[in-house]
Amino acid sequence: MLDTAGTPMLSLAWGCQMSEKRCPHCELVLDAEVGFAKGQGWCRECHKAYWRANQQRENARKREWIRKNPERHKAVVKASYEKHKAARKDYNRRYYLQHRERYAKNRKRWKAANRERLAVYDNTRRARETFRQPGGLKAKEWLAILNMAGRRCIYCGSGQQIEMDHLIPLVRGGEHTKENVAPACLACNRAKGAMTREEFVEFRKRFLLNPPVHGNSTIQPYPDAAVSLARLEESNEDAH
Ligand SMILES: [Zn+2]
Ligand SMILES: [Zn+2]
Repeated sequence: MLDTAGTPMLSLAWGCQMSEKRCPHCELVLDAEVGFAKGQGWCRECHKAYWRANQQRENARKREWIRKNPERHKAVVKASYEKHKAARKDYNRRYYLQHRERYAKNRKRWKAANRERLAVYDNTRRARETFRQPGGLKAKEWLAILNMAGRRCIYCGSGQQIEMDHLIPLVRGGEHTKENVAPACLACNRAKGAMTREEFVEFRKRFLLNPPVHGNSTIQPYPDAAVSLARLEESNEDAH
């Protein structure tokens, strides 16, 4: 059986084409192009069956070869990557165009479900581009901070139009890190402007004895913004 493996068995009988080849395993005569993969002795079906039957052993052998020939394996992978590059790009492009609507819908849904995460990306870009501040705030850190503050403004307690406040404003050298951000409502954030947290807390005490809670009057203002700030600071300590 093995002695004929790999050598094309060209039948000399009448009517047989020169491009036919006999599989030494199943003994079927097949078209050499269609029935056989290049460089293989057995026909495609026999090869497949062999691999199915010996999958574990062959995979182990493959892994062992990769372990012993890391450089050659790398080269093989790279060559394959390069070889199929154009075709893959083409396929991906066509797939995208075919499913464009679904992609757009998914993107929209993701954006709607991840507004808070997007706020981090926006703020990070602003910090980097406007203030040359690399920062290091991660989306999950911001989400944790939001959770801890109950998604409420640390200054007035409102739960509406929550934004990211930099306790020490970026414009005054504050960093874009988890130690320097807290949720603030749009109104407080605008009023705070370039004040630091301490300055704004003081400002509120002096000038806003009855700070308006915009939108929903049933929301109780925080009795003391310092409570949530202290909680925030504790948890920042924990996170170190
Ligand atoms: Zn066969
Ligand atoms: Zn507020």
